[in-house]
Amino acid sequence: MNILIFGPNGSGKGTQGAVVQKKFGVPHIETGVIFRDNIKKGTDLGKKAKAYIDKGDLVPDDITVPMILNRLKEADAKNGWLLDGFPRNLAQAEALYKALQQAGMKLDYVIEIVLDRDTSKKRIMGRRLCANDNNHPNNIFIDAIKPAKKDGGFVCRVCGGSLSARADDQDESAIDKRHSIYYDTKTGTLSAVNYFKDRVKVLEVDGLPGVKEVSESLLKKLA
Ligand code: AMP
Repeated sequence: MNILIFGPNGSGKGTQGAVVQKKFGVPHIETGVIFRDNIKKGTDLGKKAKAYIDKGDLVPDDITVPMILNRLKEADAKNGWLLDGFPRNLAQAEALYKALQQAGMKLDYVIEIVLDRDTSKKRIMGRRLCANDNNHPNNIFIDAIKPAKKDGGFVCRVCGGSLSARADDQDESAIDKRHSIYYDTKTGTLSAVNYFKDRVKVLEVDGLPGVKEVSESLLKKLA
C-alpha cells in the first residue's frame, strides 16, 4: 500500500498520518522527521539542512529527492509506505511520479487534508512534540489532544513523556514562509497536489472539524 498525505503545516496531517499508518501497518515516512533526526545526530545531511529548516525554506531538491527515493527502497518499506511532507513542490512531484513509474509501483491513495491558512497557523503554534514518540499528538490549543498537566507544566497526553515546541513552529515568519510554499498553486505544494489530481484520484478530507471527526471521515474514504 503506497500512500501520499498532503496538508498544510498545522492541519493535523501528522496526527491523521499516524491513523493511516496504524490502519495499513506501513512505515510513516516524514521528511521533516528525517531532517530533524539528522540535525540531532549532527550528520552531514543535518548540517546542510539546518539553515534552510530554521528559516522555513525548503531544503534543496538535490538533497531531498535522493534522500527520500533511497528511503523508499529500505527493507521496512518493501510492502508499502506512507509518505508525509514529500513531495512539497512540483519538481519533487514529477521526480517521485517518474521514479514510481520506473519501479513499476503505483500510488494506492493520495490524501489531501484541506484547511485554510489562518486556522493552520493558529494550530501550528500550539503544537508540542513528545520526546518518546513523534506520533503522540499534543496541541495546547486543541481540546481533543491537549497535553496532560503535571507539576504546573504539560506532559504528553499519551505516555507522560516530556514535551517541546519546535523552534520553527514558534517563529511567525518561518510559519508564513512554510505556508506560502504550501498554498502556492504555481510551483509549491498545492501545485504538486494538482499534479496528482490530474493523474490519480485524490481523497479530499476537510481538516476543520475535531481530530476524531477528521479521522472518521478519512477512514471512511479509505474503506
Ligand atoms: P515539516 O516537519 O514537514 O514541517 O518539515 C520541516 C522542515 O523540513 C520544512 O520547513 C523544510 O525546511 C524541510 N522539509 C520537509 N520536507 C521537505 C521537502 N519535501 N523538501 C524540502 N524541504 C523539506
